[in-house]
Amino acid sequence: MRYVIVGSGVAGLAACEAIRSLDATGEIIFLGDDPHGYYSRPGLAYYLTGEMDEKGLFPRSKNSWQSLNLRFIKGKVTRINSGEHQIVVDNSSRIGYDRLLVAVGAKANRLDVPGADLEGVVKLDHMEDARRILKLARRGKTAIVVGGGITALELVEGLLSRGVKVHYLLRGKRYWSNVLDKQESAIIEHRLQEDGVKIHHHSELIEVLEKRGRVHGVRLLDGRTLNCNILAYAIGIQPRVELAREAGLAIDRGVLANEYLQTSSPDIYVAGDVAQVYDPMSKRSIIDSLWGPAREQGYTAGLNMAGKRTAYVKAAPFNVTRLAGLTTTIIGTVGRGQDQDLVGIARGDSETWRALPDAIVAQTGFEVNRLRLLIGENTLLGAIVMGDQKLSFPLEKIISNHADISPIRDKLLQPDAPVGDIIADFWTTWRAKQYAS
Ligand SMILES: Cc1cc2nc3c(=O)[nH]c(=O)nc-3n(C[C@H](O)[C@H](O)[C@H](O)COP(=O)(O)OP(=O)(O)OC[C@H]3O[C@@H](n4cnc5c(N)ncnc54)[C@H](O)[C@@H]3O)c2cc1C
Repeated sequence: MRYVIVGSGVAGLAACEAIRSLDATGEIIFLGDDPHGYYSRPGLAYYLTGEMDEKGLFPRSKNSWQSLNLRFIKGKVTRINSGEHQIVVDNSSRIGYDRLLVAVGAKANRLDVPGADLEGVVKLDHMEDARRILKLARRGKTAIVVGGGITALELVEGLLSRGVKVHYLLRGKRYWSNVLDKQESAIIEHRLQEDGVKIHHHSELIEVLEKRGRVHGVRLLDGRTLNCNILAYAIGIQPRVELAREAGLAIDRGVLANEYLQTSSPDIYVAGDVAQVYDPMSKRSIIDSLWGPAREQGYTAGLNMAGKRTAYVKAAPFNVTRLAGLTTTIIGTVGRGQDQDLVGIARGDSETWRALPDAIVAQTGFEVNRLRLLIGENTLLGAIVMGDQKLSFPLEKIISNHADISPIRDKLLQPDAPVGDIIADFWTTWRAKQYAS
């Protein structure tokens, strides 16, 4: 049996691990076009701020690679011939497969304005981008960041920590408006301003200005111009569907998969940021751009490829991140609608977060520590925990397990309810009951 895994990210690696756990002798070919192979992509944010060195991005030891007994090929897969069960690498060599996994991730949306290709215009997709940003920051004095979501703030913070003065442009009136509520956006913006970031609301970039072949500034829709020598953008991502589309696989916003991570071609599987996976619970096909789900999907795909039929059970999407230095956990569904600063999905984001059905909000805390709960009929649908993280683990369990919160629902909805204490008490009794059963 030959398994071919295309994409050397976390989904691809998890698939290799799952296959090896079931099949000790099958041949595994692990293929990727990133010259640095497998590394922590969320870690790039900490690499930019200097909190992590390059070595820290590569968490796996030589021994752990050897134990997987796989053949790594550095190369770009340029075609999948599903009829012949073959892939083409770098438009030349062909490799046959019995089972194939497409785990090619997603790519940053390009900035589509005149001057976007100038030297000094950067995004944060992979290691080479991070290195480029660090190099520019050594000489750069002023940066403009455009976009939304987590990556835009990672760019802001990375540049700030390198001593660059940062202007942050927002097209709308507040940061990440389809995930955070007004108060949460205000907390983040306030913290950024305290760190010296100049935020410009209602500011749409229409042109990158040039001097001697390099970025020199930007022109905005209202006619204003701002000077800078670095322009960094994070305006959303696109699943890399091209290979799958050319191979004739079913595509929607991502490559469509059933709950076994199987595409419309039975021997081809898909996982991670490129996949749009059927969720039997919500009866919808969803894209996540999150490390945890990419890993889970990859592992489940690997089990299925090696013959162990296993359904992917989607947990409530969960991300612990840092926004303007404030630890923030986002669980389940928390927001709604569109964000003007992002096209489609962003890195570290889930479509589930924005699919909010009718829910009532309970919240507590107004400064650094803040908790917002989205309350459904008799379950919690989502939560945002900012600052103090004591409740993020309990809330993840309560939301993922659809715990019946009817005994505390009315209490939570009282004006000025001590929401945190009510949840903490509920967690103690609920957890005890779970263990007992
Ligand atoms: C800066 C940054 C910050 C992030 N922050 C968070 C966070 O806070 N929390 C969180 O949960 N997630 C975060 N993410 C997202 C998370 O890293 C992704 O969800 C996860 O890496 C997806 O894994 P994947 O294996 O599907 O794809 P990827 O990690 O993108 O790996 C896909 C690989 O396939 C390769 N490839 C593409 N096309 C081809 C081809 N044709 N042939 C061969 N190889 C190919 C790519 O080069 C890449 O190496 C962040 C990502 C970035 C970049």
